[in-house]
Amino acid sequence: MPRKRTPSSHTPDAAEATAEALRQQARALADADRRKDDFIAMLAHELRTPLAPIRTALETLRRRRAAEGALLEHELLVIERQLDHLARLVDDLMDVARITRGRVELRRQRLELATIVAMAVETVEPELRRRRQRLEVALPEPPVPIDGDPVRLAQVLSNLLGNASKYSETGSWIGLSALREGDTVTVRVRDEGIGIPRERLAKVFDDFDPFDQLGPLGGRTDGFVERARDGLGLGLTLVKGLTEMHGGSVEAESEGPGEGSVFTVRLPAAEGDEAEAAAEASGSSRERTTTLRAASGGRVLVVDDSIDTAESFAELLRIEGHEALAVHDGAAALEAASALRPDVVFLDLGLPGMNGFDVAERLASAPGRRPLLVAVTGYGQEESRRRARAVGFDKVLLKPIDLREVLEILARALERPGT
Ligand code: ADP
Repeated sequence: MPRKRTPSSHTPDAAEATAEALRQQARALADADRRKDDFIAMLAHELRTPLAPIRTALETLRRRRAAEGALLEHELLVIERQLDHLARLVDDLMDVARITRGRVELRRQRLELATIVAMAVETVEPELRRRRQRLEVALPEPPVPIDGDPVRLAQVLSNLLGNASKYSETGSWIGLSALREGDTVTVRVRDEGIGIPRERLAKVFDDFDPFDQLGPLGGRTDGFVERARDGLGLGLTLVKGLTEMHGGSVEAESEGPGEGSVFTVRLPAAEGDEAEAAAEASGSSRERTTTLRAASGGRVLVVDDSIDTAESFAELLRIEGHEALAVHDGAAALEAASALRPDVVFLDLGLPGMNGFDVAERLASAPGRRPLLVAVTGYGQEESRRRARAVGFDKVLLKPIDLREVLEILARALERPGT
């Protein structure tokens, strides 16, 4: 005799009910997740709003003090550094929120890897200098073309370089090297820092979970956590997201705590490059690696009204072994030039008061050996190039400056007879 049907998990009705309950749960979770993402995006946006006026006020304060000839106070520098830090965190937070919501748009263009590297180095250079760390850069020859968003790719590399610095001792060595293998370019950032335990390697790119009750690292208790808690775990989440948006991948390697780390980014190289064709035609498809280190011992004057830009550029040149001086207006440039007798002058065209063209004209006609004059400009128009040549500039560089170009200019200038 057939048994009477009782509702149990094995009956079709009950199964349907369970399935429906699961679907509802999934919908609720997805909903909560979306609300979380929306909240993060909004939070980041709100946090960012007050940063801009604080920065402007700080800049005004600084300019006023500079105009009065007063030295910059330590406190101003502290505010600025902390503001930069806060702004970076907020930007990262916004970016992560945008990536998870699929709202990051890449502004792709044809670029050289060297340009991206130079931008990234410029970002981390103040920190490296502060921590007296030595960065060695080795890029492939011929240059590697990439179709990508320069700002985003520079962000990937500057995050990796920033971590290499942050998780290493003062005075340590950091390496950035790249290699082209077929249609892939591999960029490695190495450090000799605290390293990463094996079991953490796979997870470092997913540290960011703002709603994890145990904190960003899931309540790790292996003593590694103190150092790891230095940050929110946003940086590598971004590195991964942005690299993957470019069709690339990223991986972390480390022999373990105290053994340093290696982060490897792989990106598709662009096709149809003339330099590559030339290399192939000459039968050399093998990578030749040259370092960015160029001749040293030159005297260089850097003129830019942005104190940070000028100072960090000069410092970079000092690290390269040159005697470099940074000044911030035309009058100071003329004075410094007659005292320093520079081999090369990098001159921002958009100086307040006496502009870069006027300064160049005076420098070109001054008695004594004429320095190599390099214009630095944010505008690539033919007109300003023509005018730059007319007043005596030997070269025009576009911002952001390509470090490789700078070092090449220096190397060539220092080979000139009479130097
Ligand atoms: P944050 O540095 O803000 O914590 P990241 O996403 O950049 O966030 O890094 C996540 C974690 O990965 C870090 O907290 C750190 O534990 C580890 N990490 C990243 N880079 C390095 C490195 N070069 N050496 C050692 N550990 C690293």
